[in-house]
Amino acid sequence: MKTILVAGGAGYIGSHMVALLVEKGYDVVVVDNLCTGHWQAVKGAKLRVGDLRDGNFLDQVFSEFPIDGVINFAAYSLVGESVTNPLKYYGNNVAGSQSMLTAMKNHGVKKIVFSSTAATYGEPEKQPIEETDRTEPTNPYGATKLAIEGMLKWCDKAYGIKYAALRYFNAAGANTEVGIGEDHNPESHLIPIVLQAALGKRDHVGIFGDDYPTPDGTCVRDYIHVRDLASAHLLALEYLDKGGESGSFNLGNGTGYSVKEIIDTARKVTGKPIPATVEPRRAGDPSVLIASNKKAQEVLGWKPERGLEQIISDAWTWHSSHPDGYGK
Ligand code: UDP
Repeated sequence: MKTILVAGGAGYIGSHMVALLVEKGYDVVVVDNLCTGHWQAVKGAKLRVGDLRDGNFLDQVFSEFPIDGVINFAAYSLVGESVTNPLKYYGNNVAGSQSMLTAMKNHGVKKIVFSSTAATYGEPEKQPIEETDRTEPTNPYGATKLAIEGMLKWCDKAYGIKYAALRYFNAAGANTEVGIGEDHNPESHLIPIVLQAALGKRDHVGIFGDDYPTPDGTCVRDYIHVRDLASAHLLALEYLDKGGESGSFNLGNGTGYSVKEIIDTARKVTGKPIPATVEPRRAGDPSVLIASNKKAQEVLGWKPERGLEQIISDAWTWHSSHPDGYGK
């Protein structure tokens, strides 16, 4: 494997993937329509701007480069928006992946690592969540990712395209060496919002509910460093290259932190007061989501290396040096 196609490589997790592949000496080609991605985040790779749903565009890219494997991050990912506009999500996420798989089939590319999500589980049956647990998404975003996992399964059977679907828990952090980080507009994720409040760009953080059945009443999530996520993708690609069986894998640290614990850790890391007020619950938030990462450890040989303080401190380095993200 030498040349890797990263779809959505200008986005948050995709750009960290590109940085790791470049560091390891791969030739990297990024396809991205830049609707939410940033060209400035693509460092050391070739960028082809276009939409996955455009089959001619993908044919051109697969003809131009000797692609050995694909990593697909390209998707809409706002849970709330997916509830109000499900067709936008099916139309982009599912159709984009279908188009990518069609190009792979036509060009004989047999390995794909797919960006999936813990939202495929919906309201969990138990903690920590294992890959064999019930998958019943409670929003269209999770439903589109699960639909794509289904499509991957059938494409494996029919065309021998091997896949690893990686179900992320809460991605956060930044790559302070390469100078890339999180820049969403609008921002909806807890850690960047907390750090924007630390920077004075927001007057406070709203805590969405403090009456959940958790130790301090706020929701508990499993935060995983974006660089650890990137490492798992590379291991998954190498695993498929060695003939590994297709499957889905959870990517999380296996430890949960509450919203209040995140804010307290951010106060410690930044030295800023970070005002916070309790607000109503956000619709559709499960109280606790913690990954069992046993399968990824055993099958892929993955071990997350960075804990919560490192996640927040790397994110702080990024946000405080790029208060306006990648800029206009
Ligand atoms: N959250 C919060 N205030 C915010 C943003 C998020 O209290 O301004 C909470 C949210 O309700 C959830 C947790 O923080 O319990 C993580 O939310 P995020 O949107 O970062 O990720 P999700 O778990 O929804 O994928």
